[in-house]
Amino acid sequence: MSTVELDWENLGFDYMELPYRYRAYYRDGKWQEAGLTTDANITLNEGSPVFHYGQAAFEGLKAYRCKDGSINLFRPDQNAKRLQNSCQRLLMPEVPTDMFIEGLKQVVKANEAYLPPYGTGGTLYLRPNIIGVGPNIGVHPAKEYIFTIFAMPVGNYFKGGLTPTNFLAADYDRAAHKGTGQSKVGGNYAASLLPGAQAKAAGFADCIYLDPLTHTKIEEVGSANFFGITKDNEFVTPKSPSILPSVTKYSLLYLAKHRLGMETKETDIYLDDLDHLTEAGACGTAAVITPIGGFQIGDKLHVFYSQTEVGPVTKKLYAELTGIQFGDVKAPEGWIVKVD
Ligand SMILES: *Cc1c(COP(=O)(O)O)cnc(C)c1O
Repeated sequence: MSTVELDWENLGFDYMELPYRYRAYYRDGKWQEAGLTTDANITLNEGSPVFHYGQAAFEGLKAYRCKDGSINLFRPDQNAKRLQNSCQRLLMPEVPTDMFIEGLKQVVKANEAYLPPYGTGGTLYLRPNIIGVGPNIGVHPAKEYIFTIFAMPVGNYFKGGLTPTNFLAADYDRAAHKGTGQSKVGGNYAASLLPGAQAKAAGFADCIYLDPLTHTKIEEVGSANFFGITKDNEFVTPKSPSILPSVTKYSLLYLAKHRLGMETKETDIYLDDLDHLTEAGACGTAAVITPIGGFQIGDKLHVFYSQTEVGPVTKKLYAELTGIQFGDVKAPEGWIVKVD
């Protein structure tokens, strides 16, 4: 398979229009007309609920080129399940797991020339999304939906990859305690634009959200989950109904326990007890693992491990996770789906 000419080692995280995307339409109570298209644009009725009331959910996952030339998808069934949960929350029709994975495979195969070569660190990012469309004005769910999957080659989400990065505690919340924080929906991201822009303007990579009820605990890192390593070598990560359940986070919980032999816990992580963490990081498909160097809370900068060095446990977790994703390390049963 020949590839196009791109600066594979220096890809950022930017939209790129590739030749093909998968698209499916939901009408008359069922999914129909599913397949690839070359048209990157969608023309919609002005009353579409996605425009007014944010009836939209999405996913994000990657395809990885292995050393032997084959292509890996990492736990796509977990993304399918999470999209189904998001759809339930916003009263949208669920995309069946088979259709979801079939769409991913079609998009990867059709755009294979854009899949970064093994060893460059690049991947093909896949963005499934579903929106409520059609003529509407009252606040009620749409009757018609469009599900799409598009792709683009990407490098690191936070510049520098596995280098310590600084974050700022947010004044705002991205989601309410019993709101839509658990669902990967557009509205959460609209709410995150202002605090995210404030953090970036102040020189931070992004903000860290605190628990919306008390603002005393760590909740999420922008569009990634938070984890810490305690002095007792435990892997800890916050537990809250307003956190988006990250596939990467649950994978790290498993790997910390079964591959690194660590104790793991989903628990409260209080701002006034950060000294018990010797390392901390952000984890997600786009962020992979981004070590958290400094965490600015009010006028105090808390440094976890170092602002220049990466902690030893973070390094091991990163090697294990990315080794599995690129096919160099044996994956737990069912984690890898081949595109062939
Ligand atoms: C998608 C997302 C994550 C990361 O989830 P992964 O499944 O690991 O990619 C974390 N937080 C938020 C808010 C997200 O939208």
